[in-house]
Amino acid sequence: MPATTKPDYYGALGVSRTAKDDEIRKAYRKLARKHHPDLNPGDKASEERFKKVQEAYDVLSDPKKRPVYDQYGFYSEHIPAGGPGSGGGAGAHDPGMGFGGFDFSDFVNQSGAAHPGGGGAGDFSDIFSTLFAGKRGQRGASVREKGADLEYGLNIDFWESIRGTQVRLNVNRQETCETCGGSGSTGGSSTVCPECDGTGNVTQMAGAMKFSLTCPRCDGKGRLRNVCPTCHGDGHLAKSEAVEVRIPPGAQSGSRLRVAGKGNAGRNGGAAGDLYITVRVDAHPFFLREGDDIHIQVPVTVWEAGLGAKIEVPTIDGRALLKVPQGTQNGQKFRLREKGVANARKDKRGDEIVEVTIQAPQVTDERTRELLRELSQVNAEDPRREMWTKV
Ligand SMILES: [Zn+2]
Ligand SMILES: [Zn+2]
Repeated sequence: MPATTKPDYYGALGVSRTAKDDEIRKAYRKLARKHHPDLNPGDKASEERFKKVQEAYDVLSDPKKRPVYDQYGFYSEHIPAGGPGSGGGAGAHDPGMGFGGFDFSDFVNQSGAAHPGGGGAGDFSDIFSTLFAGKRGQRGASVREKGADLEYGLNIDFWESIRGTQVRLNVNRQETCETCGGSGSTGGSSTVCPECDGTGNVTQMAGAMKFSLTCPRCDGKGRLRNVCPTCHGDGHLAKSEAVEVRIPPGAQSGSRLRVAGKGNAGRNGGAAGDLYITVRVDAHPFFLREGDDIHIQVPVTVWEAGLGAKIEVPTIDGRALLKVPQGTQNGQKFRLREKGVANARKDKRGDEIVEVTIQAPQVTDERTRELLRELSQVNAEDPRREMWTKV
């Protein structure tokens, strides 16, 4: 760089040669806001000033470039080999830093001119957002940020889980503020912070002591954005939205469903998060689901178990015939194939497992008593005999 005049970068930012990074950044932001071409349309002097501030910050904020500038009085990619910043080649024109590289789409949106999306915002949006993002902090407030996912629990009854259902869920989600398009500001130039009169500091008394504190209202910036009156600068608004959720047939307790794009709105044009719904299924008094099988206990009489019988048992499809074989014991299980759950994710249904419980007869009349006595004489078996051989 044929540096005929050596640029005064510290002067351009109005900081001392010993200024810390933080101080440089603050000064830069303050000046960049003030002289930004979008805020001073047609003002050539401001534009020049903005470019100077830009260039100064480019060098002074870079831990490689700044020492070179301090030593040589200017910075260029063509500093002779051996200079601390010789490699790299990131001059004043790397795409993120050049004046032309700025994309003010967000800002333009705020002032009403159509410029939706602002494609290619990625590279510079870090700078951009630190300029205008206000409270969001300096790091990480950057690029498009996907909105947070939301988690909801949903209770459905047994039959809804078997057959599937459609549910309207009121979801509280953060939506992009329509007034400001998510920027949190209504555009226009910022105003001097009335709390600190633009100094960025406020004094506070504690007894006889006087303290200087960073102004809480403007975060030490000295200026306030024109805060969007709708969202108070957040760029987002909490809204309750009714979301239709389709629960597929066969959903189990603990199933997690994703509804894309129904989480919180993203920042800086980032995609919205997703809504996750965890399903809880209320218990049924008789049907117990295990995987895609349905378990049920069905009582049978002593004579059905002893003689064998065809009985009707409940299934999720209605009644089904079960053949109870002769000599069935209490607790014996029978499988009804494909009478279980039709899971939307599998092509085969589960089974129903019927566990038989033998119910003793109610003895309320003399005739029954007589018959049972007779039975005990004819069939004099001791159901505990096996036990005695082992104790
Ligand atoms: Zn707003
Ligand atoms: Zn202030």
